[in-house]
Amino acid sequence: MDTRRTTRALATEAVHAGRDDLAGQGLHAPPIDLSTTYPSYDSRGEADRIDAFAATGAEPDGPPVYGRLGNPTVARFETALARLEGTEAAVAFASGMAALSAVLLVRGSTGLRHVVAVRPLYGCSDHLLTAGLLGSEVTWTDPAGVADALRPDTGLVLVESPANPTLAEIDLRAVAHACGSVPLLVDNTFATPVLQRPAEHGARLVLHSATKYLGGHGDVLAGVVACDEELAGRLRQVRFATGGVLHPLAGYLLLRGLSTLPVRVRAASANAAELARRLAADPRVARVHYPRIGGAMVSFEVHGDPHEVIGGVRLITPAVSLGSVDSLIQHPASISHRIVDAADRRDAGVSDRLLRLSVGLEDVEDLWADLDGALGERAGATARPEALAQG
Ligand SMILES: *Cc1c(COP(=O)(O)O)cnc(C)c1O
Repeated sequence: MDTRRTTRALATEAVHAGRDDLAGQGLHAPPIDLSTTYPSYDSRGEADRIDAFAATGAEPDGPPVYGRLGNPTVARFETALARLEGTEAAVAFASGMAALSAVLLVRGSTGLRHVVAVRPLYGCSDHLLTAGLLGSEVTWTDPAGVADALRPDTGLVLVESPANPTLAEIDLRAVAHACGSVPLLVDNTFATPVLQRPAEHGARLVLHSATKYLGGHGDVLAGVVACDEELAGRLRQVRFATGGVLHPLAGYLLLRGLSTLPVRVRAASANAAELARRLAADPRVARVHYPRIGGAMVSFEVHGDPHEVIGGVRLITPAVSLGSVDSLIQHPASISHRIVDAADRRDAGVSDRLLRLSVGLEDVEDLWADLDGALGERAGATARPEALAQG
C-alpha cells in the first residue's frame, strides 16, 4: 500500500497542481494549445456533448470542442487555482472585470439582481455596480449592516479584504454568516490564497484579478473565479455565451506564475512590513495602512502633496496595477478610484492624500532610499509629530 499522504501543502500544490498528467505524457513543461477548434468525425456525439454543456456547464468529456468552450492550457491554470483556494473548480476570464461581469450575469439571470456590497472596492468594481451597467442594483453597507441590507431579490454579497486601496479588513466568517443562503463573493486579489482562503471562511465565490499577484510579472491581464462546480458550470456557460475567454498563452503564464506565488508573496510581504514600519515612524507620513494578515501592499497618507511623491520616485514605477515582482506606486484618487464619485470615495476612507504602494522583490534598503527621496524634505519640516496615527 502507498502510505504517502494525499493532502499536499500549498507550496507543493503551487508547483504541481494542474500538471499531474505531464510526467505520464513524457513532458515536463506544460504544452500550450493554441487551437481555436478541434476535429471530430462524430457529429452525433458532438450534439450530445453540446447538450450536456448547455444543461450543466460541466466541462465536456473527451477532446475540446471550440476555444470559447474551453482550452486545455487554461484548464491547467483553473485546476491549480482551485486547488490553492480549496474549491471544487475555477473558471478563468480575460480580465478581473470580465470575471466579475460573469458573476453578475450568472446571478442576475436568476432574477436576483440586487447586490449588497461593502466599500471600498476596486474602483471599476464599484463603478460596474453603481452604474448598473449589467442591470444590477446595489445597496452599499458596512460589514455589520449586511444582514439588514439583504432583500428577497438579493443574489450576491460582494466584499474585498484587504480592500483596494485602503487595505481595510473584513471578518469574512462573520459576513458569510450574515449572508445566510445568499452567495458571498470575496475579492481575494490582495491577499492571494497564500495569506487567506475565503472559501474556508464560508465564501461561495472567490474572485481574483489574476493580472496582479497570480500572474505576478506585470505581463498578463486575466481574471478567475474559484467556486463550487454548480456555480462554475453557470460561469462557463456565461463565458461561452459572452466570450470573455482567457487566451491560452495567458493561461500558460498564469500557471507558471502560480508556481512562485508562495515565495513571491512571502518575500514581498517581508519588504512591505518593513516599509510600513519605517513609514509609520516617519514625520512626513500622516497615516499608514497595513493589514493584520500582512501582504505586499502598503497604503499611506502624506502630510505633503501626494503628486510630488509620485513625481519623485526613480526605482519604484509610478503606475496603476499591483502584484508584480517590481514595486509600483499610484494615487488612487487620480487613477484606480478616479471613476468613483468623489464623495463616495472619501466616505470609503480613500483620502486625497492616500498613496498605494505595491511592494516588489527589490532590496528593501533600495526601496526605502527611493521612498525617502520621493517623500522629500519640505513635508518633514512642516509635519507635527502629534498628528501621527497608525491604522
Ligand atoms: C485590478 C483589480 C480588479 C480588476 O481586475 P482587471 O484584471 O484589471 O480587470 C478587481 N479587483 C481588484 C481588487 C483589483 O485590484
